[in-house]
Amino acid sequence: MCIFCEIIEGNIPSTKVYEDDKILAFKDINPVAPVHIVVVPKIHIEGANDVSADNSSYIASIFEKIPEIAKSQGIDSYRIINNCGEDAGQTVKHIHFHIIGGVNMGEKLL
Ligand code: AMP
Ligand code: ZN
Repeated sequence: MCIFCEIIEGNIPSTKVYEDDKILAFKDINPVAPVHIVVVPKIHIEGANDVSADNSSYIASIFEKIPEIAKSQGIDSYRIINNCGEDAGQTVKHIHFHIIGGVNMGEKLL
């Protein structure tokens, strides 16, 4: 089982900030900004290349809830990051979206 599936199952502890039947949001263990939340679907989808009509409702759910999750962390301006594959530096092969904020990141993408 992948590390995020283990977190979803409760086998590995996490600091949860939002949970429902389809998604889980928790604090990143290695935050890069004052607010750094990881949002995952509660089914194992490896990455953005594996999103399809069969599972996209989970991804839609994530985006429907992101504003509420961000607001719960005291921010309404943030960056959403998804890393897909080797070149992008995806280390956990369970699709996830980083919500990063609480600091002015400027206009440069990278
Ligand atoms: P990525 O590089 O996009 O695959 O990001 C994976 C993210 O998961 C990194 O920012 C890690 O800090 C984070 N991470 C890895 N293990 C854990 C964990 N057990 N709890 C919370 N965040 C984690
Ligand atoms: Zn998984």
